[in-house]
Amino acid sequence: MPCRIDPVALPLQPAAAAALPEPLAWIDEDLESLAAAELLRPRRVRTGRQAARVLLDGRELVNFGANDYLGYAGDVRLTKAASKAACAEGFGAGASPLVSGHSQAHEQLERAIAGLLDVEAALVFPSGFASNAATIPALVGPGDAIYSDARNHASLIDGCRLSRASVHVYPHRDAAALEQLLAAAGPARRRLIVTDTLFSMDGTIAPLADLSALARRHGAILLADEAHATGIFGARGSGLVEETGSGDGVHVRIGTLSKALGAAGGFVAGQGRLVEWLRHRARAWMFSTAHPPAVAAAATRAIELVGREPQRRRELLGRAAEFRARLAARGIDTAAAGAQIVPVIAGEPAAALALADRLAAAGLFVPAIRPPSVPPGQSLVRASLSWLHSDADLARLADALAG
Ligand code: PMP
Repeated sequence: MPCRIDPVALPLQPAAAAALPEPLAWIDEDLESLAAAELLRPRRVRTGRQAARVLLDGRELVNFGANDYLGYAGDVRLTKAASKAACAEGFGAGASPLVSGHSQAHEQLERAIAGLLDVEAALVFPSGFASNAATIPALVGPGDAIYSDARNHASLIDGCRLSRASVHVYPHRDAAALEQLLAAAGPARRRLIVTDTLFSMDGTIAPLADLSALARRHGAILLADEAHATGIFGARGSGLVEETGSGDGVHVRIGTLSKALGAAGGFVAGQGRLVEWLRHRARAWMFSTAHPPAVAAAATRAIELVGREPQRRRELLGRAAEFRARLAARGIDTAAAGAQIVPVIAGEPAAALALADRLAAAGLFVPAIRPPSVPPGQSLVRASLSWLHSDADLARLADALAG
């Protein structure tokens, strides 16, 4: 007998329905408060490729607002590697890595990352954000304790929250304060210290040698996020862990393929057993489609280029040091920045926006960074220097900041 579904007569209550607020109406009010606090974040549309000069909303500006530190994002050698892989393997990965999404291109990339960092193994994630959000909860949980630098990136903060471990935030780069927290802590099943190595918002550098000594003394795991240092620091270009010789003391090394490497994705690297464990517990890896093989091939090519073109990172860091010195000589406060990310502190959001507008009027794109990316009262403009910038570009920015 065919199945019949009788329409269900719902009682009509027009008066009650009219009284209910529209469920998303609160958003208008909240957006208005953001606008009043100068915290709205409009998007600009870029046309053409990432380069030293970009077309944003149709205007050509010198681009100090990309993480393309080595100039590989628009490099045709990456495009060719990606095209070749896309022709061989198709575009989409088609499945999560544990099912059938882990392609030959991903396998080669993981080997290349492990080689670059000189570690046993690496695991590639669809994004750097996913690497952090998945790895921290895979390592610690309720009953464990996390020690997190006050300026850590949002993805580390969210990883800490997802883990449901108790989180102790220590003042930015303050190893002495961290030591006090560790010494005062009650019994915890596991302890995890979490830090950016090169801090994304203010360009400062974590005291890795101190942190690894503390981790050793207190039996803690040390996790370092090298997102902005990968490709830039160290003789091989693997990051600040290599540069500071802290390899033995940093147990979990995280990086991105999306910044200096000019591709997309993130990775976690370290001992083979760490990677094996993450394959069983890192949910954003297990339950997410692998990123496209073409992207993996482009990232592998970028790692080769980092090996072959060490002069790019040396020149970038040299020019960044000169640029910071030039600003300091003109009395411009770049806080304690120590690399290619150079902040200029403006204070309130409106002041940062006004400075960014003034620079844009001079043909320079330097984004304003406001809360929640930085603490209240510490809004800034952040110049991300790239190997692609000429000395003349940097001189122009220094003049415009001083003017
Ligand atoms: N960690 C840090 C320190 C970052 O700055 C970023 C990106 N801004 C990420 C992780 C996330 O990386 P991705 O953009 O590859 O998701």
